[in-house]
Amino acid sequence: MPLHIHTPLISSRPLTLRTGKEVWLKLDALQPVGSFKLRGIGAACEAHAAAGKTRFVSSSGGNAGIAVAYAGRRLGIPVTVVVPETATAHARRLIEQEGATLIVHGASWQEANERAQSLLDAHTAFLHPFDDPLLWAGHASLIDEVVREGLRFDAVVVAVGGGGLLSGVVEGLRRQGLADVPVIAVETHGADSLAQSMHAGRRVTLDAISSVATSLGAKQVCAQAFELTRSHDIRSHVVSDRAALAACLQFLQDHRLLVEPACGAALAALYEADSTVLASFQAPLVVVCGGATAPYEQINAWHANAPA
Ligand SMILES: *Cc1c(COP(=O)(O)O)cnc(C)c1O
Repeated sequence: MPLHIHTPLISSRPLTLRTGKEVWLKLDALQPVGSFKLRGIGAACEAHAAAGKTRFVSSSGGNAGIAVAYAGRRLGIPVTVVVPETATAHARRLIEQEGATLIVHGASWQEANERAQSLLDAHTAFLHPFDDPLLWAGHASLIDEVVREGLRFDAVVVAVGGGGLLSGVVEGLRRQGLADVPVIAVETHGADSLAQSMHAGRRVTLDAISSVATSLGAKQVCAQAFELTRSHDIRSHVVSDRAALAACLQFLQDHRLLVEPACGAALAALYEADSTVLASFQAPLVVVCGGATAPYEQINAWHANAPA
């Protein structure tokens, strides 16, 4: 039994009426940790445990750190998560409630990550949040489940941070014989490292992240994700923070699920009235990637303050 669950696949009546397309939702917000991250991280943790590792270390104060903490608890393996001082109280609580040791170190992720690296030894596995083939293979299970249910879809809409989920989605499409299905890769302005890389024709490093969608806040996508843009039909789409936040609030109304702006970005590709990125598709599959780190009050306040 894997650590992740087989999540529901539903047809969205509100989004179907709004877009005139048959919109399908893969509800990975319902994973026990609140995001898809458990697929890849759970698989990677199981592989490390089978290889004899006796400790897991993460430097993510977001959904990846929560997933490592959860996986460690389920496997009976101690976990240490090092987060910077900027990690929210809410995220710290989610990591600690999984029984992980939380170390708060440094002003930025770089410093927290250096501390995490200093903890590694021969018996300890470091879990990267997106740049790891074990993760991509685990994320690919999301597409396996959809295909096994017999759904025919003509595009996949997916949010992109460091590109681990994108890499997993493409891996899943390929191993299911669907290498010709296009993928709409959605980011927010200020976290658009894939869009800028595709535009420049090389992997770009952003100077800073200036989006509230912190789970998309990788300054550079992994090499695999960028390489895939050359061998798979991947179409980049960038939305505003405001559109991502509005999508979160509308999705809560429509489907009673609270997701992070990172996931709202993917949903905004459908909710935005003037979006043409899906014009040529009839049955898009949306990866509702979820996210547990932004409480409702936070999303509401961000939305109220987001520039128009
Ligand atoms: C991590 C994460 C993403 C982005 O995934 P990458 O593999 O970094 O591209 C999107 N949404 C949520 C909720 C996440 O936790």
